[in-house]
Amino acid sequence: MTGMIPAAKPLIGEEEREAVDRVLRSGMIAQGPEVAAFEEEFSQLVGGRHCVAVNSGTSALHLALIAMGVKPGDEVIVPSFTFAATANAVKLAGAEPVFVDIELDHFCIDPAAVEAAITPRTAAIMPVHLYGHPAAMDKLVPIAEKHGLAIIEDACQAHAASLNGQPVGTFGLTAAFSLYPTKNMTSGEGGMIVTPDAQLARTLRLLRNQGMEKRYHNEIVGFNTRMTDIHAAIGRVQLKKLAGWTEQRQRNARFLDEHIKAAVVPPVAPGAVHVYHQYTIRVEGASAADRDAFAQKLADRGVGSGVYYPVPVHKLPSFGLELDLPQTEKACREVLSLPVHPALTQEDLERVVEAVNA
Ligand SMILES: *Cc1c(COP(=O)(O)O)cnc(C)c1O
Repeated sequence: MTGMIPAAKPLIGEEEREAVDRVLRSGMIAQGPEVAAFEEEFSQLVGGRHCVAVNSGTSALHLALIAMGVKPGDEVIVPSFTFAATANAVKLAGAEPVFVDIELDHFCIDPAAVEAAITPRTAAIMPVHLYGHPAAMDKLVPIAEKHGLAIIEDACQAHAASLNGQPVGTFGLTAAFSLYPTKNMTSGEGGMIVTPDAQLARTLRLLRNQGMEKRYHNEIVGFNTRMTDIHAAIGRVQLKKLAGWTEQRQRNARFLDEHIKAAVVPPVAPGAVHVYHQYTIRVEGASAADRDAFAQKLADRGVGSGVYYPVPVHKLPSFGLELDLPQTEKACREVLSLPVHPALTQEDLERVVEAVNA
């Protein structure tokens, strides 16, 4: 047996190193022309919408909420089965996250639960395209329209995913992508905010830079959440590789789908293009301890795996809420994410399958 097959692996090549070197040698390393070029190039992923680069996916969500006018006293409907950053961004904007359940099939927010949670204080709906599978935007967009609510997409895990031919990041008034190293593409750390609204894009540019467009003429109170040209240079190279890597993830997923017999493989909704940020199986009927024992047996056979996420966000000490979200609880007990990243060899894939089925 060779070494452990890692659950995730950032792929950094010679071109990324050269791009960083180019920026370092230029002597201009803060936000500049590389960031502007990266925004322009990223917009091709999202139908030419305005793109505003920031220093993380969390900042992208936070600034988007503020730019949309979400404020203290407002409620934002979020899934509880997600990374904590989704709800943290709402809280940091001064609003209250209202946690609702998911549909177990695709692990994304349940549109019926969203509609049931709408109150006069609801300001926005924040679906998460979890694991790279698009949320049910075909149902969520009409619900938002009917109630006059904005949608902010948490697309942090879903670069280039789509539903019925429409890319994620183009359904909402805003969307946020993460460029953290384990995501489908990276800039080291980074995030991208997407919007079709030019005025909102300008507000976002102000918010990321102390409220300034013209230096020392601060128009609003803002943050420093700028991306550096060093990070943008890495992101530009990675963006060129994204399509090939996505195809490789999809090929790897197809192999796992066809050969895994001992667990529930992740279904894909009709019309959805899944980009497999994670390939997440369910150990049906398992307790968390059973699932963890399963993961340990995989590790004993040299197969890394991950549990995203073991605790519903509403139950974390940071939120500490008692809610009845049965599908979320079940997902937290049963999910296990297997290696699916583009660095896997055919031999790795066969080892993953053998280990799971054993
Ligand atoms: C990664 C992630 C974020 C946060 O992105 P960072 O770049 O790590 O700040 C937010 N939401 C989801 C669903 C994520 O996976």
